[in-house]
Amino acid sequence: MQTGPAEGTPTSRSDPLLKEDAVVRLDSVRKRFGGERHGVVALRGVTLGLERNRFTAIMGPSGSGKSTLLQLAAGLDRPTSGSVVLDGEDLSRLGEVALTRLRRERIGFVFQAFNLLPALTVEQNVALPLRLAGRRPRRAEVQSVLERVGLAARGRHRPAELSGGEQQRVAIARALITAPAVIFADEPTGALDTGTAEEILRRLRGAVETEGQTVVVVTHDPTAASHAERVVFLVDGRLAGELRRPSAAAVAEQMAGFGAWAEPARAPDAEGSA
Ligand code: ADP
Ligand code: MG
Repeated sequence: MQTGPAEGTPTSRSDPLLKEDAVVRLDSVRKRFGGERHGVVALRGVTLGLERNRFTAIMGPSGSGKSTLLQLAAGLDRPTSGSVVLDGEDLSRLGEVALTRLRRERIGFVFQAFNLLPALTVEQNVALPLRLAGRRPRRAEVQSVLERVGLAARGRHRPAELSGGEQQRVAIARALITAPAVIFADEPTGALDTGTAEEILRRLRGAVETEGQTVVVVTHDPTAASHAERVVFLVDGRLAGELRRPSAAAVAEQMAGFGAWAEPARAPDAEGSA
């Protein structure tokens, strides 16, 4: 899309974070959990645009605020201050009902623990977002997303009959079925072995490259992050730089520079010893 900007105006090529390219924009986002005195500040003023039709990875040490950032970007939680605009909607202006609808219809989620409903078949799990949106899913559309993740033959099975990697592919199919504006994934490969993790990342990247999806993945794994077109680093609740199309080695080096591997002193995630 060439718009021919006035002279001196930065083009989207020179500034990929211009508003029109960002499917999600966070502006001066702060997040505190708990009270003034004993609370934890998880985000200390983050301003960031997440680009449409791209695969972005958010990286950082444990406890750096990655999951919090994702939750706020996805409208699962609200910032203490600052704003989040998703697909043109200022989330702070939306009431709970509208926010719930936006999450259902315009956002897909993939979690570390897959979060499939064990009593439902694979087909039923994948169709669930459409049912929740009040639509009657067509068999063909469910079958089509299952084909896209290589599970066309497993629709009648229950999650427990599938491997971890297959369950995560079902979760990806479930995220894809509404053709959301963004798919958010928090440590989607955290429970998988290396080979399986690799396949999941290829599938997510494929959704960006061949289907024009937008995918934002939180990870602390440099290999996972190296699949991304852009890697944004978060340290102690603040942005700490970014890399474009980095190798896994470059990501690991950056993380080592933050002392990320030298200090595994914190609990691995929000739930833990703290
Ligand atoms: P990451 O995903 O990078 O490991 P998180 O976003 O989960 O980090 O957490 C950032 C900080 O906020 C941590 O210190 C964590 O303990 C704290 N935190 C996260 N969620 C909560 C919560 N619900 N209540 C209190 N503290 C929280
Ligand atoms: Mg986390």
